[in-house]
Amino acid sequence: MKYIQKNSEPTALLNYKKNSDATYLKMKNTDRKVYKEVKESLLDEQGYICCYCCRQIQYASSQIEHIYPKSDYKEIDLDYDNLLTCCDGGKKDRNERKIASSEVCCEARKLSEILPVNPLMTECESKFLFSRDGDIIGIGAEAEKTIRILNLTSPYIANLRKGAFNNYKLNPPADWNVELQKLNNKKPSGEYIEFCFVLKNYIKNFILNKK
Ligand SMILES: [Zn+2]
Repeated sequence: MKYIQKNSEPTALLNYKKNSDATYLKMKNTDRKVYKEVKESLLDEQGYICCYCCRQIQYASSQIEHIYPKSDYKEIDLDYDNLLTCCDGGKKDRNERKIASSEVCCEARKLSEILPVNPLMTECESKFLFSRDGDIIGIGAEAEKTIRILNLTSPYIANLRKGAFNNYKLNPPADWNVELQKLNNKKPSGEYIEFCFVLKNYIKNFILNKK
């Protein structure tokens, strides 16, 4: 889970919330221009990676996610600090019967639960480790519960992480420290490298520190 530094609230959302009947669902279903601006701001601040699994996302393949679920916390359903954007958690692949229902992850699994660790917590990055096989390990009970709620041990997402590690085995970078810098920074397109947080963890633990 990569720490997310929030942008300032988009002006369109600020103005929209002045309407007394403004709700998240109304914005999503009716006021698409505002919705689009909000979602684009979220994608920009996250560098086009899922807030939970770090998979690359685009406008069409992502959705707006509420840290505190909109079903139970209606009073903050348009609070910009309660909004993130995430992947579809494999719903499309499940619908096409490419993966089992038990393998869906991220929001598709979380639904209205509240995570003990979320990406707006500055310490979130220190709570997760990864094995060479792409398995995720939580440091402490809160991280373990977060992994369970998001189903981040699902073979579906673990195999994608493993594939990212295997790319390094096939094409190791000339300089691992330069590679770390690349993973830390957004590309000129505004995107982070897919699984950047996971790959940084891998390089630090298995390449530079040789565990
Ligand atoms: Zn995800």
